[in-house]
Amino acid sequence: MGYICKKNMERVRFAPSPTGPLHIGGLRTALINYIYARKNNGIFIVRVEDTDLARKVEGSEKYIFDSLKWCGIEADESAVNGGEFGPYRQSERKDIYKKYINVLIEKGLAYYAYDSAEDLMDARKEAESKGDAFKYGANNRSLFSNSLTCSDKENNKLLALGTYVVRLKVDGTNDVVCQDMVRGEINVNEKELEDKILMKADGMPTYHFANVVDDHLMKITTVIRGEEWLPSLPIHQLLYQAFEWDAPKFMHLPLILNPGGKGKLSKRDGDKHGYPVFPLPWRDSKGYIDFGFLPEAHINYIAQLGWSVGDQEIMSLEEMIAQFEVDNIQKGGARFDFDKAKWVNQQHLGKIGAGELMSRFHSYFEEAIKALGDRTIDAVEMIYDRLITLEDITNELACFYTHPKEYNEKSLKRLEKVDGMQIASLLKATVSTSGVDRLKEEIVKMADEYEISMGGFMQVLRVCVVGALSGPDLVPLCQIIGKDVTLERINRFLEHIKS
Ligand code: GLU
Repeated sequence: MGYICKKNMERVRFAPSPTGPLHIGGLRTALINYIYARKNNGIFIVRVEDTDLARKVEGSEKYIFDSLKWCGIEADESAVNGGEFGPYRQSERKDIYKKYINVLIEKGLAYYAYDSAEDLMDARKEAESKGDAFKYGANNRSLFSNSLTCSDKENNKLLALGTYVVRLKVDGTNDVVCQDMVRGEINVNEKELEDKILMKADGMPTYHFANVVDDHLMKITTVIRGEEWLPSLPIHQLLYQAFEWDAPKFMHLPLILNPGGKGKLSKRDGDKHGYPVFPLPWRDSKGYIDFGFLPEAHINYIAQLGWSVGDQEIMSLEEMIAQFEVDNIQKGGARFDFDKAKWVNQQHLGKIGAGELMSRFHSYFEEAIKALGDRTIDAVEMIYDRLITLEDITNELACFYTHPKEYNEKSLKRLEKVDGMQIASLLKATVSTSGVDRLKEEIVKMADEYEISMGGFMQVLRVCVVGALSGPDLVPLCQIIGKDVTLERINRFLEHIKS
């Protein structure tokens, strides 16, 4: 059965090159493509652009798909799922590019070039010594070795040797008029452009050529990608014109800047300031998943780098799809802010609820469950509001299943004002006779009897139980850990101050 493509059906693609892990910029592009597709009841495609064999990195294609999966983005057609317009891996489409490059050569809009790397280097150096940027194009192609300058005989000989590239023949005089959905009309004169290489000496197409051919053949209606590809747009536009194909719409998303706003966000920035730039771990680098981020929070923050909806910052993927408008995409660069990313995570954590948190992220709770059994949920309810990332769970819950490893010096100093030893002994006596069920009432009674402030009792008990003057609500904490553990901790504290 042939493919049925509804009239005006939007088809968008995310087209990563497997040259390394998926970074924040790539993920943002994938997300906006996905959101745009879903918003328009369209199709989201993931095409792997792996024609640059020298830059291909083992494992990165799998990493990219795994990351998208973690983020909850599923492609309708892709190198993994297949589809009607496959193959979706460019290295498997070589015959297609060969066919289409011949179309341009026959039309006289592309030509073979035989120049050696050395000749090109010399020409580049010469141009640069005059302060010019080297461009192989309309005003100098007649000086080089190519099918426009060689005789038929020479051409046949050089072609037979097989070491040639194919270049686009740019006229060199016209204006190229491009439309970008974010920036409007962009005009570039052909003099600014060079005769870009379309097919390389290794027989592989370049990014520009394969990208345009595939976008056309895969019936892409809207190209959504990062701003770094905007300078390629006029070349792509010329390729569409050369083939006499309708160009898709283009949407270039703003750059993602580092927190200082100076330059693109890089892995180096992340390493220096201690934040991840990848969703999942990659070799020695930790990902957002390792930092305890929820996928729904991560995509919420990343999708909104350069796009926003009024003051509504916390959104599910469904809400983002419902709210998405191209008009709300900004032109200027979007600054990455790790604190904001954490805040967004905290908001999403707050929405889940303790029970769901435990079932979704079971491994974080294993130790607590071993120690507390059914009471774990009560402990989780108590620390829930304090969580910023999942990593905080271990720290916050530790006091429920481990005795204090040490006593905070500052807290001990504060206890000098009250008689820590005497109060701890009173607490010990009460807990051993009356347990912890009515701990608060017992303490109120003792405070009155001994004319010691309630605060004094609480401070001492807190240092006994958690080792410091901070931590979860004290009386419920003691009730969850139970009489024996509370008593044990009071004893340990007494031994500590005695020694
Ligand atoms: N393969 C390019 C990249 O790695 C795709 C650019 C585009 O979307 O046209 O980002």
